[in-house]
Amino acid sequence: MSGCSQGRLTVVGLGPGNVDQMTPEAVAAVEAAQDFFGYGHYLDRLSLRADQRRHVSDNREEMSRAEAALQIAANGGTVCVVSGGDPGVFAMAAAVCEAIEAGPDEWRKIDLSVVPGVTAMLAVAAKAGAPLGHDFCAISLSDNLKPWSLIERRLVAAAQAGFVMAFYNPVSKARPHQLATAFDVLRAHLPASVPVIFGRAAGRPDERIRVVPLSEASSDMADMATCIIVGSTETRLIDRQDRQPLVYSPRSSKRES
Ligand code: SAH
Repeated sequence: MSGCSQGRLTVVGLGPGNVDQMTPEAVAAVEAAQDFFGYGHYLDRLSLRADQRRHVSDNREEMSRAEAALQIAANGGTVCVVSGGDPGVFAMAAAVCEAIEAGPDEWRKIDLSVVPGVTAMLAVAAKAGAPLGHDFCAISLSDNLKPWSLIERRLVAAAQAGFVMAFYNPVSKARPHQLATAFDVLRAHLPASVPVIFGRAAGRPDERIRVVPLSEASSDMADMATCIIVGSTETRLIDRQDRQPLVYSPRSSKRES
């Protein structure tokens, strides 16, 4: 690097919550950084050294967090912005890229990298079998960044197209009722027997995985730490007697006719 103060910013995915599910690349990026930006719960997962600084911010302050991190990197710092799961999935990588696009020219000189992580739907799917084995989509049910009417349109389109769906941000204190509406929308387009997987805190000690038919799915089965996977008409269950059923999307139930 030249004598100028070009810094480095790494957006790191910490995985769903368990250190074993953090990649070696993410561990190395954390070791190399000096300044850490992120939601307090995510920063708490790291055992930082005394010389590494924490800049905790609230979950909703994504843009100002990205800007503050970029400013330190522009001044020559080695900065890490952390997200749970993967940083490109409903998380900080997009906020950092948008901030660079809107920000001063000097931010474009920052050495930016994004370190992927195991996203929530993969951690939940792995616990349940293979529900994402074929075509699927991921939808955030939060209407912070898009109107609820668009979310409903996407639910209908995904159900009609036969996608398995993974829902992120299913509920929050500010949005207690929308998940029930989402299930009602789906019940109008999918059979009552379609399996719905509620995966809460996957990879953490308080993990809970629950599978119910769409007819029984209810919004009080989810909280902010839950990722929900809704099967398609083809998704099947393997009954394991008194153990959790395995859910999977069959390789091909459509024979050429
Ligand atoms: N970047 C994260 C997602 C952030 S959005 C990722 O890739 O996983 C936050 C939402 O992610 C939560 O509302 C929840 O739906 C989901 N989530 C995050 N961690 C989870 C976990 N350990 N188990 C289940 N869902 C999780």
